[in-house]
Amino acid sequence: RVGPDLKMLDGRSIPQLGLGVYEMTNDEAYRAVKWALDAGYRHIDTAEWYENEHACGKAISDWLEDHPGVTREEIFYTTKLKTNVSRLDTVDKIKRSLKTSTLSYIDLYLLHSPIGGADIRRECWAGCVDAKEYGWVKSIGVSNYGVKHIGEFTQQAGAEVPVLNQLDNHPFMRRPEIVAACEKQGILIEAWGPLVRGQRFNHPTITSLATKHAKTPAQVLLRWSIQHGFIAIPKSVSQARIQENAQIFDFELDAEDMKQMDALDEYLVTDWDVVDEP
Ligand code: NAD
Repeated sequence: RVGPDLKMLDGRSIPQLGLGVYEMTNDEAYRAVKWALDAGYRHIDTAEWYENEHACGKAISDWLEDHPGVTREEIFYTTKLKTNVSRLDTVDKIKRSLKTSTLSYIDLYLLHSPIGGADIRRECWAGCVDAKEYGWVKSIGVSNYGVKHIGEFTQQAGAEVPVLNQLDNHPFMRRPEIVAACEKQGILIEAWGPLVRGQRFNHPTITSLATKHAKTPAQVLLRWSIQHGFIAIPKSVSQARIQENAQIFDFELDAEDMKQMDALDEYLVTDWDVVDEP
């Protein structure tokens, strides 16, 4: 297996590198998940939204059957709630996601977005806490939460806090305020779009660092996330790229390299940041 685990607030561990399966068909996801497990990944990130939970769960089960030396507990499976709904409906959605995956539990369940307002956010979070109590999910977290949304968790003493916030994060979009707000509370950052969706591989800073370290632009970008202590979940449907994206634990960016990459922030915002209602 490749890469270390990070410790989450709830005491459980999460592999720092995962495979993202956004916009993969069930067939693509089935193949990609198996290739990722072959390449040493132990973490798969899907969502109700991606409509490939079944393929991901099946690929994990089939791969485990072929690898009796690895246990289910060594693999980390994440899925997410597509639309924020009531507490009861959230519980129902989680039950369906679990059933669709055919797995016996979900390692991490995320609220995919903060959309809907504070009341509905509280409702779905309560549903996540219920599902955790039932043992259907082991850990619970959020995605695309801004500073204000993260702040809502501090208001209730003793309340369950998300173990991580999965957000669009890479050198060109560093979102320092959100990162700081999360880190202050011990909430890990999970970077989605860590490869900038392939849109900055030709940036001169990235290509020169790739040459310097005899690595690819994708590997340099992922290494930046890893060295910031973020979890990274790059996506690829190609076996060669899935393998390439895992070969990032045999080199290190030095302080100057990191500084150069940190300076690339374009202060981009996503739709999620401007979402807000009450
Ligand atoms: P990404 O930054 O991981 O980029 C993926 C694209 O980069 C691929 O489509 C591929 O074309 C290219 N690529 C991958 N490896 C490469 C390599 N080694 N060399 C050259 N090109 C390569 O973008 P993403 O898929 O949007 O994000 C990753 C994952 O994050 C998703 O699959 C999904 O699991 C998750 N995600 C979550 C949210 C959310 O709202 N929570 C949103 C989007 C994505």
